[in-house]
Amino acid sequence: MPLYYLTTPIFYVNDVPHIGHAYTAVNADALARWHRLIGDEVFFLTGTDEHGLKVARSAQEHNCTPQEWTDTTSARFSETWKRLNISNDDFIRTTEKRHHLAVKTFLERIRDRGYIYVGEYEGLYCVGCEAYYGEGELEAGSLCPIHKRPAEVLREENYFFKLSAFQEALLDFYTANPQVIRPQSKLNEALGFIRGGLEDFSISRNKKSVSWGVEIPWDRAHVVYVWTDALVNYLTALGYGQEDGRWESWWPAVHHLLGKDILRFHGVYWPAMCMAAGIDPPGHLQVHGWLLVGGEKMAKSRLNQIFPGDLADEFGVDGLRYHLLRDNPLGPDGDFTYEAMTQRYNSDLANNFGNLLSRVATVIEKGCGGVGPAPNPSSNLKGEVESHLGVVIEAWGRNSPSEGLEATWKLIQLANASLEATEPWKMQSGPQLDLVMGDALEILRIVAILASPAMPGACQVLWDAIGLEGSPGSAQIPQDLKWGGYCGGIQVTRRSPLFPRKK
Ligand SMILES: [Zn+2]
Repeated sequence: MPLYYLTTPIFYVNDVPHIGHAYTAVNADALARWHRLIGDEVFFLTGTDEHGLKVARSAQEHNCTPQEWTDTTSARFSETWKRLNISNDDFIRTTEKRHHLAVKTFLERIRDRGYIYVGEYEGLYCVGCEAYYGEGELEAGSLCPIHKRPAEVLREENYFFKLSAFQEALLDFYTANPQVIRPQSKLNEALGFIRGGLEDFSISRNKKSVSWGVEIPWDRAHVVYVWTDALVNYLTALGYGQEDGRWESWWPAVHHLLGKDILRFHGVYWPAMCMAAGIDPPGHLQVHGWLLVGGEKMAKSRLNQIFPGDLADEFGVDGLRYHLLRDNPLGPDGDFTYEAMTQRYNSDLANNFGNLLSRVATVIEKGCGGVGPAPNPSSNLKGEVESHLGVVIEAWGRNSPSEGLEATWKLIQLANASLEATEPWKMQSGPQLDLVMGDALEILRIVAILASPAMPGACQVLWDAIGLEGSPGSAQIPQDLKWGGYCGGIQVTRRSPLFPRKK
């Protein structure tokens, strides 16, 4: 069974989960669910990033210890992901023992191999980013380009990672493996960083300035810089640094899903750190844009955050998931608007998906005694359905849920158009009606499987309503997509609309 290891970035606990975070989590979840359908053994990891100065300061403001603070704030993420039906196999917190152990082992290896040294660092540091900036990277007035706040001058003795030693190795790696970073434009961006020259960077902080972090194993006066520690989470979850760790069978065939603002960390620093520790760099980076609101990134300081729970209350968890996946392709920036979400909900979910099920169940109740008939083995819909399946499978294989869903909805349109042409609601009961309805049920069955990565809840309801046992998420692609899978002779239940129309 092929292994599929998928990660989201770990989310910074000082944020409150907004739909930008949900966008990443839902896309990752849909990909994980798709890979389970195609028979991969999936390990899907998400979690929270909990160290650093900003967390320590917030804890202080809230009159609690950093650990107490992160216990509360990390739970906001795990609870939101539960609400959104995110099927992660593990949830890592960087404050866990297993993580401290992995970070220490990883850094010891890098040091033993000669890529860590002591140096003095002075730089412009944005507390919001937990990062030093070069002069050229800041906006006028030394403002952080993301937080629009002035960067502070920070100077201290700390440990440096010899990134400069890896310029050639990184270029060679990406030249030999250009498919590692997708899309291509992001590969070019990473290559640009590397060709521009790589400077060694500091990987520790003196406890006098920051004490909330993983202790440097050979010098207890220092903690590991929060970004350095965070990246190692992808190995921690595989048991790196532990006796019985299984990491060697899952690494480096990892799939990192990440936003474009953290490409440098994932596409340059992280692979170099892996090389320095004597392990292969990560195998796949899928870079996506931001989900903007009114053209701007969501941020607490801008009061433009939209919370996933509010949208799930109004559109249902699956309505929200579908919108995030369908309207905001992985790659470019997306712009969230309430109007676009409502329109998509009404057209695709209320008028097409939900309406097809309602129509079919109504006719079967009246004309077939509530029992779903089997499809026509030589239906003329069969060929058309099969041609769309190829498009769906190909799109998901390119990490494009948006196009996969678009092609899936062609099947729904096909079934609706066929019903409009044959008008089964005017037909007499009998074999002719049975064939028409059997075909519609077969398309519903196939749609339930194909749409289940996006809408696991609604597809289960559909699956149950047409009398099938088990779950569409347990189906196997491609074998369960073969025309004729709907057995017939089973109870079809008419139910209240799955997606009531919105005004
Ligand atoms: Zn910043």
